[in-house]
Amino acid sequence: MLRHDHNRIDPKRRNVVDHRKKQFATPQYKDAEYPSRLNFFADAPTADITLEQFEQWAIDRLRVLAELEACSFRNRSPAETATHMKPVLDKYLPLDTNSSASTKLFAQRQKDHYSHFILRLAFSSTEDLRRRFTRVETTLFRMRFNNDDLGERSAFVSSLDLDWWEPVTEDEKQDYAAELAALTGPKKGGGAEDDTWFKVDWERVPDLVEQRRVFLRSGKAYVPGREQSSMVVAEFSSRLERQLELTARALPRLDEDDRLTPILNHLSKNFITPDSAYTSNASAPDGAQFTAANIDNLSQHFPACMSHLHRSLRRDAHLKHYGRLQYTLFLKGLGLNLEECLVFWRSAFHKVTDDTFNKEYRYNVRHAYGDVGGDTNRRGGGYSPFGCQKILTEHPPGPGEAHGCPYRHFNLENLTALVQAMGVTDRSVLQGVKEDKDHQKYHMACNRVFEHLHKAEIKKAKDEGAMTSNQLETLVHPNEYFKRSYILKNLGKDSDVKMEG
Ligand code: SF4
Repeated sequence: MLRHDHNRIDPKRRNVVDHRKKQFATPQYKDAEYPSRLNFFADAPTADITLEQFEQWAIDRLRVLAELEACSFRNRSPAETATHMKPVLDKYLPLDTNSSASTKLFAQRQKDHYSHFILRLAFSSTEDLRRRFTRVETTLFRMRFNNDDLGERSAFVSSLDLDWWEPVTEDEKQDYAAELAALTGPKKGGGAEDDTWFKVDWERVPDLVEQRRVFLRSGKAYVPGREQSSMVVAEFSSRLERQLELTARALPRLDEDDRLTPILNHLSKNFITPDSAYTSNASAPDGAQFTAANIDNLSQHFPACMSHLHRSLRRDAHLKHYGRLQYTLFLKGLGLNLEECLVFWRSAFHKVTDDTFNKEYRYNVRHAYGDVGGDTNRRGGGYSPFGCQKILTEHPPGPGEAHGCPYRHFNLENLTALVQAMGVTDRSVLQGVKEDKDHQKYHMACNRVFEHLHKAEIKKAKDEGAMTSNQLETLVHPNEYFKRSYILKNLGKDSDVKMEG
């Protein structure tokens, strides 16, 4: 399935099928066809793609799934979720209907198909990941099913060949007219769904039976057409569950391909929070000036991790190595230039002499900016600011260290004190933070605090159309946290301050 010019799969590995089986097997590299935008993902893809596509497509789908999961953490209703997700889906995983005049149907559906299977590999290893993956994929499928063109949707359902359900005939409808009418209520001159009924073994639809939303006769449940979507979605979910278990059993064989394992491990780690690439040369919000002298003032917009680093630095006039690195890169991401950053660190470390500062600290700051070091470091402009995923999962802080993510690495007492110092006194928000922490949804706790501290501004920005919901996606990067906070708090104060794309 992978193609990479410098890194081709060893052709010998492709010839592992027993020759007797091979003789009768369907051709292995048959190109997939996508007659519908909906997909039950029954067949794994077999055509070649590049390693770059493999990774990028998976990351894009992950972004969508993580955002969907965030909607469910926040108890958004299906309608709110659909509105929130529309721009995210348009950006990362668009899927047009056949009736649209789009020329990209094949490419969109191929990406959807491949990315689903790549994440299946990444998320089949543990029961917890499998359960979460099934849940969000099912939500995504349900959303797409409900949005689909009605004609295309019923063609898709017929193509599924679900042999356990059969349409109710006209004669049967007449025989049970009274019973069926009692279920649907008075006719509202509704669409075709009002008149369509399906018959299934009642064990297939226990929820509908329990809620008395079906008519039962001779072991069969008569299900109204409008319940069709729940049946299709339930089928999608149970098939995916079964297939994930099969994938899990096949996983050890994948270890043979040493190019895929690191990518898959990285992806499954990322399910904690999607990785967000924040370009290191990202500029400050328009109209904002960043100098060493105004960092204290700007720190009101910092997320908990950076707020803690800043407070520790001011208290001790010192930070240990990894804290300095995390903080320097954050400041660089704000748009503070190297000279100002050096001024900032020099004055912050006021207990050390110039000589010590130059010998022990200056080089690391310059290195982070790409001003010194090997060619790769210089060409790449140094390191990129760390995203939440990295801060949450790598290098947990040891004693005396101030880096990391307080929502994960602090005990509850210290975390509560920090969040209160940041301005949160509302008990329900503090309780919510505690629950998020208990459930290991650390970045959700951070988003909860952000939303509370910017409640009025977010409402204003939405009411005035100053920010689209795309610009209010779940935060997964400390620099995005800062930038959004800065812009929200300055809305209307300065017409030059605006959100970039
Ligand atoms: Fe910082 Fe991210 Fe943790 Fe928030 S969730 S405190 S931005 S690392």
